Amino acid sequence: MKKKYDCIIIGAGPSGIFAAYKLVENRNLKILLIDRGKDISQRLKQRMSENSLLSGWGGAGAFSDGKLTLSSDIGGFLTSYCSEEMVLNYINTVDEIYLKFGAPRELYGTNMDDLLRLQNNASKYFLKLIPSKIRHLGTDKCRTILKSFERYLRKKIELKFEAEAKELITDKGKIKGVRLKSGEFIEAEFVIVAPGRAGSVWLAEESERIGLPTFQNPVDIGVRVEVPSSVMKEITDIAYESKFIFYSKHFDDKVRTFCMNPYGEVVKEFSNGLTTVNGHSYRNRKTNNTNFAILVSTIFTKPFNEPIFYGSYIASLANFLVDGVIVQRLGDLKAGRRSTLERINRGVVEPTLKDAVPGDLSFVLPYRYLTDIIEMLEAMDNLAPGVNSRHTLLYGVEVKFYSLRQKLSNCLESQIKNLFVIGDGAGVSRGLIQASASGLITGTEILKRVS
Ligand SMILES: Cc1cc2nc3c(=O)[nH]c(=O)nc-3n(C[C@H](O)[C@H](O)[C@H](O)COP(=O)(O)OP(=O)(O)OC[C@H]3O[C@@H](n4cnc5c(N)ncnc54)[C@H](O)[C@@H]3O)c2cc1C
Repeated sequence: MKKKYDCIIIGAGPSGIFAAYKLVENRNLKILLIDRGKDISQRLKQRMSENSLLSGWGGAGAFSDGKLTLSSDIGGFLTSYCSEEMVLNYINTVDEIYLKFGAPRELYGTNMDDLLRLQNNASKYFLKLIPSKIRHLGTDKCRTILKSFERYLRKKIELKFEAEAKELITDKGKIKGVRLKSGEFIEAEFVIVAPGRAGSVWLAEESERIGLPTFQNPVDIGVRVEVPSSVMKEITDIAYESKFIFYSKHFDDKVRTFCMNPYGEVVKEFSNGLTTVNGHSYRNRKTNNTNFAILVSTIFTKPFNEPIFYGSYIASLANFLVDGVIVQRLGDLKAGRRSTLERINRGVVEPTLKDAVPGDLSFVLPYRYLTDIIEMLEAMDNLAPGVNSRHTLLYGVEVKFYSLRQKLSNCLESQIKNLFVIGDGAGVSRGLIQASASGLITGTEILKRVS
């Protein structure tokens, strides 16, 4: 048995899985996929914690809502590395693979006449609608698909769970292998690093240690909004998940809607020791509410260069005040008072996140963010009357940390030969589709080099 692997993939999230999927086209390759988490069946049995939520087979995507956004404009920055045509081709291939493994055929956002009408209407209120087709797996279906992927790949590659990469070992500008936390050294010709956001701190430290150049990405800070589904119905019927972009009047900040969940639930997210908020929806279970995030993007300029620390600080304030997630009625926020359980109970919107604590988001979010969020809700109210009502619930805080962006070639190879860095951890994607596509890009390149 050959001890050295042709390729080691670090991370069993969508980017690592799709890289492996491509590589097994060459049956002679000896491939090892490692993850610090557990396999999918074990993960489903685990109690939810930060580790089990983001780590293991399927990565952060395993418990996600599984909205596949089939767009090169959304969910990543792949077009900064490859041409748009190439990225769209990869996205189509990724979509076909998800279909092959059981994704539902139904596509949202395909009626161009309706989308155009919505887009025109939105532009009257200075909202830019980014149209995109969406395939919705749903949290439940997402797991079944991941199980099929695991069954398929298990027969063709080696999988090693609860194995954490500690060091990337290089020699004269070329990758040599990976040292695990256990001390074991595993040699390989190629290494694909796909550690997701959960492994982004480790990757940043390793990048510095081995001299890989990186750049800052923005930090997105905001709230999750919850309204009766009837308020958003006209929009969600057309676009399912509508992405609106707005430049706020007062601060000229980029504000956007993100991760819209018709008939969905607000959920907690655990990351880097912090509790933040998120949302999802099931295919076969519906609530009476729709939720979505409103996020403000901030790119800090010199001398400040710690956006992740800034975002964490804001999130930790909410955790400090209520030991979790705050919920507040928009009416209370505007009236300058905290929400109480009694006020929430009097409201029309019944919170789907039951253990959110009624409080006051103005103690947490800076004036700038609150102003941006309120302006966006006012603009959206023209398209979805009721979204800016006093009953609307705001949960805080929602923070999207983006990893440091790696300096990479057009096939996502780092400055070190045969070392590829992909997915959310590399800062090249921030969604399932582009993460998966980044895996296909590197897989394709490695196949070319070994043929
Ligand atoms: C709650 C939630 C909902 C989401 N919903 C959607 C959605 O509906 N649609 C969408 O497009 N996107 C969604 N996303 C985002 C999506 O899940 C990610 O963009 C995607 O999973 C990124 O894939 P990845 O392979 O880059 O990283 P990840 O999926 O994060 O996987 C990285 C893997 O690497 C492993 N790892 C990290 N460091 C190491 C190490 N040192 N050694 C070994 N293993 C390591 C981790 O354990 C993890 O399993 C959601 C995310 C969350 C958290």
